[in-house]
Amino acid sequence: MERTHVEGVNAASELPKTSNIIHRLGTIFRASLSLVLPLSSSLSRFAALFPLSFCCSLLPSLSLSLSLSFLPPLPFTDPRIRENRLEQQALTGPAASSSSSVASSSSAPPSSLLRGFSASAAASSKPAPYSFSPPGRNHLFVPGPVNIHENVLRAMDRPSQNHRDPWFAPFFKECLEDSKMIFGTKKGTPFIYPGTGTGGWESALTNTLSPGDKVVTFRYGQFSHLWIGKIVFLSLFSKRAFVFIFIFFRRPRNSLFPPLSFPLPRSLLPRILHPTPTPTPKDMMQRLGLDVQVIECEWGTGADEAALQKVLAADTGKKIKAVCVVHNETTTGVTSDVKGVRDAMDSSSHPALLLVDGVSSIGALEFKFDDWKVDVAVTGSQKALSLPTGLALLAVSEKALAARKHAGMKRCYYDWEDMIATNAAGSVPYTPSIPLLYGLKESLDLLKAEGFDNVVKRHHRLAEGTRKAVKAWGLELLCREPRWRSDSLTVIESPAGLDSARIVAEAYKRYNLSIGVGLSKVAGKVFRIGHLGNCDEVMQASALAGTEMALLSCGVKIEPGRGVGAALEYWAETSKVIPTRCGSS
Ligand code: PLP
Repeated sequence: MERTHVEGVNAASELPKTSNIIHRLGTIFRASLSLVLPLSSSLSRFAALFPLSFCCSLLPSLSLSLSLSFLPPLPFTDPRIRENRLEQQALTGPAASSSSSVASSSSAPPSSLLRGFSASAAASSKPAPYSFSPPGRNHLFVPGPVNIHENVLRAMDRPSQNHRDPWFAPFFKECLEDSKMIFGTKKGTPFIYPGTGTGGWESALTNTLSPGDKVVTFRYGQFSHLWIGKIVFLSLFSKRAFVFIFIFFRRPRNSLFPPLSFPLPRSLLPRILHPTPTPTPKDMMQRLGLDVQVIECEWGTGADEAALQKVLAADTGKKIKAVCVVHNETTTGVTSDVKGVRDAMDSSSHPALLLVDGVSSIGALEFKFDDWKVDVAVTGSQKALSLPTGLALLAVSEKALAARKHAGMKRCYYDWEDMIATNAAGSVPYTPSIPLLYGLKESLDLLKAEGFDNVVKRHHRLAEGTRKAVKAWGLELLCREPRWRSDSLTVIESPAGLDSARIVAEAYKRYNLSIGVGLSKVAGKVFRIGHLGNCDEVMQASALAGTEMALLSCGVKIEPGRGVGAALEYWAETSKVIPTRCGSS
């Protein structure tokens, strides 16, 4: 059978002897590094406490590293081999370059087809993923960025304009005023920053707090999780460190030495290969020098109001300056009860500010800024507003505005002072993204026309249909407690023994469907289907159909159509006639 895939060449035979020795020395060096780096964090603690077990636990890693250092060099880690191969292929074409040790295709792709291929992709005869647009469309069902309404796309398709011309001030004032709807506020002050949700968070914290201030937050997912990005080097004694060493020296398939015999825990791969260093509220709080108290909650649950109440009751000196909550945890599909958090604060008569991350909830779920007495709420344009990424929207209470006068945190770009000084006249402190603002205006108009209550109901209906499909597939939601189930996205546990990244990969590879992978602690264990923003039943049905096909492709035993059928049945019973189409025959 013809094979187009280029397998690794026997690299050792291609290298001169001296470079082989140099390469081995390099490998020894890297092996030592891989030992030392993970060691550094646990060395002092562990070695001091348990010297004997410390030495014993070193042995497997040490022998692993030494044996690996005597293996031949790896084609993919040695840049000279890679370059050699690319050069060879550039000169002779992919088929010829691999002819010695590889069965190659006799029908190499014509050069016209290679346009858009990256050098490395050409080296393995694989097209770059962006070089071909499949027919149909990319079915985007991650929980942000989300599908953009066609009217919004058209609204943004404008030539550049001068924001200092007279048209801008009334237009921008309208954007600010209209944005209050999604926050559920009449009293709050809105700000619109060029930025993302993370920028909005920085703005909330730096304008209200001082370094050293005590704050309380919950940890129940990636966006409320502290240690993102540091996970690889936690400890030599953790499974992750061993896996890291293993991956570092992974052998090519045709190597003289086969891979080490212990199986690679696949569920750990995404965590190590794709550590996501997104600053989370707590991560950012620590970097900003705040004194953070964390209330630990199980992933799949929400903000523990009772635990908060205890913490606040114990704070008799009222040292806590802010309570920070992620409203909708996009890692776990959990919506916390912000009102419940406010009630817990009120029951202890605590004066702390209430700061809420509503990045994946505001504009889709019920949010009552005024009623829940929220002090700062933050969202980003690429979520429920269904715009491209690039705007951070905030609503700020009188109390939070007053707090800025005493807040000692350094701030510049996100300083509310500059916004306050310019916004009243319909101006902005920096060059605005006019296309994004046009998009925002159109998006808010669409939500207004639908009626915000209907927007919330639509999200609930889409979520409920998706949950019915999950049940019919015989799968479980990560969020077990019905009161916390998110209407922005559904997070589903992978069937036992199946890495959820495979389901996501199958959906993308075969059906051009993008659904979300599991992140951080739940990587490999869950996958996520978004129903956030610009979406309706028929669109959501396509996401469920694609997911169901991906599950089937992964060998999951489900009756085809079962999940989709359950959702369709529910939607057929609950859908409403589009208001402007009442009376159409
Ligand atoms: N908070 C939550 C709940 C999120 O889902 C995200 C992004 O997905 C963020 C914060 C970070 O927002 P951004 O990527 O817009 O900075």
